[in-house]
Amino acid sequence: MFLESKSDRNQQIGWIEVICGSMFSGKTEELIRRINRAIFAKQKVEIFKPAIDTRYDEEDVVSHNENAIHSTPINNSSEILLLASNVQVVGIDEVQFFDNGIVNVCNTLANNGVRVIVAGLDMDYLGQPFGPMPQLLATAEYVTKVHAICPKCGNLAQYSHRTIHSDKLVMLGEQSSYEPLCRHCYNLVRAEEQKNKE
Ligand code: ZN
Repeated sequence: MFLESKSDRNQQIGWIEVICGSMFSGKTEELIRRINRAIFAKQKVEIFKPAIDTRYDEEDVVSHNENAIHSTPINNSSEILLLASNVQVVGIDEVQFFDNGIVNVCNTLANNGVRVIVAGLDMDYLGQPFGPMPQLLATAEYVTKVHAICPKCGNLAQYSHRTIHSDKLVMLGEQSSYEPLCRHCYNLVRAEEQKNKE
């Protein structure tokens, strides 16, 4: 479990934390846990999410277990710098949906002494690295990969398999259209799908 290191309060040093994993892996729950601890520590916190993510509620970061926390939906990563002045901690959920400018935004915040905590899908439904995630993972100080459980075999799952047919990369509000799978089961299922295509 990630524990905050004690830092010198007079010298505000920033850094980036990435929480990544498949769907149903508990990314948002972990983000909310860290944000709540920062709030308990009386730190000034701002939370953002892409405006595209309107699954449950316009304003709140909501995870599957219905822990909610107030957040601001934004369209463009550059808005974060304008809205996050004078804060100590910035949280960003569903960070994989942002433009590549998000990498610079996170690093600029960290360079200015802000603790930046981002959560996002590291791979899309085809198992490819998702949007700005590779750059975020490479430039972060702390990386936590969380796992779901494969319902087929009980092993740790890292893939978000799409169970209905669609070639669209981004599908939201369709939790039931995905299942987390382990490497072994994902490969079996994908091979089966390829066979059915031919
Ligand atoms: Zn499995």
